[in-house]
Amino acid sequence: MAIVAMARELLTVWTPTAHMEYACRMEKPSKEPSSRKKKWLRRTAIGCGLLLPLLAIIAETSVLIASAGRIADDLSDLPHCNAAVVPGCSKSLRGGGENQYFRARISAAAALYHARKVGIIIVSGDNRHRGYDEPTDMKEALVRLDVPEDRIVCDYAGLRTLDTVVRAHDVFQQSDFILVSQRFQLRRALFLARSRGIRARGFAADEVRLGRRVLLRQLARERLARIAALLDVATRRKPRFLGPLENPPMRYVPSPNHSERTRPVSIIVLHYTVTKTLEQAVQILTATNTPHPVSSHYVVGIDGEIVQLVPEDRRARHAGVSFWRGETDVNSASIGIEIVNMGPDANGVHPAYPEEQITAVIGLCRDIQAHYAIEDVVGHSDVAPKRKQDPGAAFPWRRLAAEGIGVWTDEFVASDTPNAKLLASIGYDVSDPAAALLAFQRHYYPEAILSGGKRTHERLAAVEQLFRKRD
Ligand SMILES: [Zn+2]
Repeated sequence: MAIVAMARELLTVWTPTAHMEYACRMEKPSKEPSSRKKKWLRRTAIGCGLLLPLLAIIAETSVLIASAGRIADDLSDLPHCNAAVVPGCSKSLRGGGENQYFRARISAAAALYHARKVGIIIVSGDNRHRGYDEPTDMKEALVRLDVPEDRIVCDYAGLRTLDTVVRAHDVFQQSDFILVSQRFQLRRALFLARSRGIRARGFAADEVRLGRRVLLRQLARERLARIAALLDVATRRKPRFLGPLENPPMRYVPSPNHSERTRPVSIIVLHYTVTKTLEQAVQILTATNTPHPVSSHYVVGIDGEIVQLVPEDRRARHAGVSFWRGETDVNSASIGIEIVNMGPDANGVHPAYPEEQITAVIGLCRDIQAHYAIEDVVGHSDVAPKRKQDPGAAFPWRRLAAEGIGVWTDEFVASDTPNAKLLASIGYDVSDPAAALLAFQRHYYPEAILSGGKRTHERLAAVEQLFRKRD
């Protein structure tokens, strides 16, 4: 605060207006206006000569203090956050050729995403006229590095570092994020964030090798930028554009209900929440004041909004006592996705899963499958047939399988093998064969539950064959 007060003080004294007013007050009729002007210029020059180094020292100290211990070179030193925020720069150099700063920032941001450290990437840059569009250039470069398009959010009004940082918080509603850039800019960005009470940390993109002259020019430019940042803080300067709130496709609401994962991720377990709203589900999945706290990695709302609750490298509590293909700690081996849906009512009527919601579930599963060797996508009732019914007979498993998520067949195969043996061969716990068969029907033959289908045994044989072929 002392620094800010000091800067404000300095600013009041040394703004050009103040200086000119001073000059005006002193003005008297003179025969030698040019010598007066020279004097004024000399004074200004001396003033600036004294002021600049002082401001530079204050700026440098403030920036170093604010960013100390907040910048990571190694991904593993970073906690999970919802968003990475990448300040833009031009993708190519003025004289032609690729801008190495751009390239390094993009690859660092993609690495953060692929390490599952962030759910979305906000690319923030300058788009002040057509034909110059940093955010779109960044988005395209990220997509080329296999970041899904729907996880990239463009901020077209990130004209300066200040705008990028403040808009990430005020417009894109990120309370804690990871800034991705070269260290020199990160320090200044973190100073700007901290001065506004915004929690952010930095992930350092690779530095760019520069010739001596270019390096000196960059150092000088950065010193001036830091002085400007100090003045921005002192004057509480706002971004050029603020605009209405933007809702990114994903939120992170950390649930404390998780523990260490002891198995590699190989299963996705889908659930329904038995809640009307996403917020109710989030409340249940983050609550600690219950005898059995629960959680999941993700919960998907009716309109397709995704909330992450637990980082993927942690074991969430969604499956409970369960079994799948010999695995008894399904929680440790899986990623759990809760889907907002009330489940069947008292008359057995299943509420449908809306299109937006299923599209989001498909996107999420695809993204998870791209990062882990997923062997099975199952329902909660598949892994806990005696206790659970979710995600229920109305869940569109066929549609998911058509998108490459899980397996499906419409075939019926004649077979002499008893049901229990077929179920066990697929992976079910058959300690209660009737319950296992019902779970199978919910997933692979919902007609048996919804419309009186009578060919469960033949469908079971067909699915078992599919599993055997797959293995
Ligand atoms: Zn469940």
